[in-house]
Amino acid sequence: MEPKTIKRIGVLTSGGDAPGMNAAIRAVVRAGFYYNLEMYGIYRGYEGMIQDDIKKLESKNIAHVLERGGTFLKSARSSEFRTPEGRKKAYDNLVKHGIDALVIIGGDGSLTGAHLFYNEYGIPSIGLPGTIDNDLAGTDLTIGFDTACNTAIEAIDKIRDTATSHDRLFFVEVMGRDAGFIAINAGIGSAAAATLIPEKKMPIERLVERLKARTKAMKSSNIVIVAEGGKSGGAVEIAAKIKKELPYYDIKVTILGHLQRGGAPSSLDRVLASKLGVFAVEGLMQGKYDVMAGIINNKVVFTPIAKAIVGHKEVDEDDFRIAKILST
Ligand code: ATP
Repeated sequence: MEPKTIKRIGVLTSGGDAPGMNAAIRAVVRAGFYYNLEMYGIYRGYEGMIQDDIKKLESKNIAHVLERGGTFLKSARSSEFRTPEGRKKAYDNLVKHGIDALVIIGGDGSLTGAHLFYNEYGIPSIGLPGTIDNDLAGTDLTIGFDTACNTAIEAIDKIRDTATSHDRLFFVEVMGRDAGFIAINAGIGSAAAATLIPEKKMPIERLVERLKARTKAMKSSNIVIVAEGGKSGGAVEIAAKIKKELPYYDIKVTILGHLQRGGAPSSLDRVLASKLGVFAVEGLMQGKYDVMAGIINNKVVFTPIAKAIVGHKEVDEDDFRIAKILST
């Protein structure tokens, strides 16, 4: 597409927060300044766009944010943006501020909104994959995923200490309503006895067999990782079923919950967010619109948002196999 002249870019974070969103905002804003553009922060995602919570950003706004978790622009879920009236209000506010391009940092929902908005109003926009779920096509990694995995593994290491001391069986629930990426990584990275993910059904009988075999092998601790959207239920439900089958086990459940969203971004997330942020601004200047910037084989690539949101990424079959081999 023939590039439009861009003078003012608005940046927002939307949907679930993810570590590294601040690093992405900073990179977008710094790159904008580098290319002599004016940069605007749209606070609280699409909700702030509708309510005119929009402010010009200066260098000082992005000082010391790279290393901080969360998002200083704040994030929100906006039901009004799902309506044509809401999106019209949002567009009017962008016009009022003279914002002529957007960078949207968020998950598949946020990018779906961005795609719709682009089709309705044609405002040049680029999405960045900001979600701990790692479930977007068009990128090997999403911003926040690596940090969330590190957080989960660090927590599971601590649980392992108490599990070993008391010969306990722990069910640890990690985030992932529809995607098992955190679970499978945490499972491999923390030597789990089994990993249950939304994409695959593991019958309770098979889990019982696996745990019995481990008892025979005199394993001193057992940790089963369960993604919150697991096909056989969450950790509490599965623990109750196992207790019926294996009553001699001292069973405990830990739900890691929102702690997986917090914390300083890992080195990988900082670098990923920084690269994608710069490429987003350059992409807009080159006329790349309605695309998501992602990383594939360590190279930044632009994928049409329509493809990134429909092509729900699958957990790698090799990862399943490896998790299974290493847990027996
Ligand atoms: P996460 O993956 O962390 O949950 P997300 O970006 O997928 O993040 P959602 O709550 O699905 O989070 O979406 C964020 C916001 O994007 C919604 O609150 C809504 O404002 C907007 N959005 C999502 N889907 C649509 C849609 N179909 N049309 C318009 N706007 C949408």
